[in-house]
Amino acid sequence: MGRKVFVLGEIRDGVLRNVSFEAIAAAKVIADGGEVVAALFGESIGDEIITMLHYGADRVVKVEHPDLKSYTTDAYQQALLQVLEAEKPDGIVMGHTAQGKDLSPRIAAKINTGLVSDVVNIENDDGNVIFTSPIYSGKAFEKVKINEGIIFATIRPNNITPLERDQSRSGDVSEMSVDIKNLRAIIKDIVRKSTGGIDLSEAKIIVSGGRGVKAAENFQLLEELAGVLGAAVGASRGACDAGYCDYSLQIGQTGKVVTPDLYIAVGISGAIQHLAGMSNSKVIVAINKDPEAPIFDVADYGIVGDLFEVVPLFIEEMKSV
Ligand code: FAD
Repeated sequence: MGRKVFVLGEIRDGVLRNVSFEAIAAAKVIADGGEVVAALFGESIGDEIITMLHYGADRVVKVEHPDLKSYTTDAYQQALLQVLEAEKPDGIVMGHTAQGKDLSPRIAAKINTGLVSDVVNIENDDGNVIFTSPIYSGKAFEKVKINEGIIFATIRPNNITPLERDQSRSGDVSEMSVDIKNLRAIIKDIVRKSTGGIDLSEAKIIVSGGRGVKAAENFQLLEELAGVLGAAVGASRGACDAGYCDYSLQIGQTGKVVTPDLYIAVGISGAIQHLAGMSNSKVIVAINKDPEAPIFDVADYGIVGDLFEVVPLFIEEMKSV
């Protein structure tokens, strides 16, 4: 059929986020042999934009402006609407990240089209694009087909496999200038909360602590385990509410949604609101002293025991590997 599909990539500290490459792979399915155009917004964009060609984009567009240095709804919305007006795509894909979640519904409303959000799978059924996305906090999945208008989707990080990187892929690199005015908010400074240096929503391994960890200082034990595994540290809302860790670590219905290869739940009961944020993880390990804890219903491996005995043994074992 051949559609033109636009991808908005995401860049942080000069590094392209992996979800940009996953979005290109999703766009390829929607394009159905057509063209995939990927753009990056920023104050000054370097050669990293070429990487999007290596991951399958047919063409890339740099959109540079001082007001695009950090994400603000207003500036990104103004810029994206101008780029979409120029490109006139049949489809749009972006990550279901904090940025994508904020921007996509506004853009969909402005361009008068629908939006399929938090997509975990995309199939091409004889030219028809079928999206799969979770509903009811991940208790069920729905399949959605768009019959008319622009096909607009946000994709959940870590679910759609990017194309193999191929440095021999090339394509046109162009620049587009945008006019941004009357901003209602300007970012002066960003103070970032640490998650062990690894972005929680893109982490391949997450060690997550709950109320069972019992004190803020005991989170050091989880940080140590995360350190030997190369993991990010997450938490249940129980742990955040108890003041053991920062809310930026919260995973679940009202926190971050994650899909790592390995999720280790430590002292977490497995409330439905927590499962909503992690139950699609590829392998789930639960450490809990209560054999009846609901987390064991979704766990692939369960360790019934006291976390203060199990986690130090786990760390020792991993150090000896
Ligand atoms: P608990 O339920 O208290 O579980 C602690 C677990 O630790 C228990 O299973 C216990 O057996 C185990 N334990 C205790 N000591 C040890 C030990 N020494 N060794 C091993 N195991 C031990 N929750 C979220 O996580 N994310 C959300 O986004 C979220 N959103 C919510 C939204 C709404 C509208 C509402 C109403 C609730 C939400 N919640 C959310 C809260 C959720 O319902 C639970 O209260 C919360 O997840 C419980 O956290 P927890 O499992 O750490 O604590």
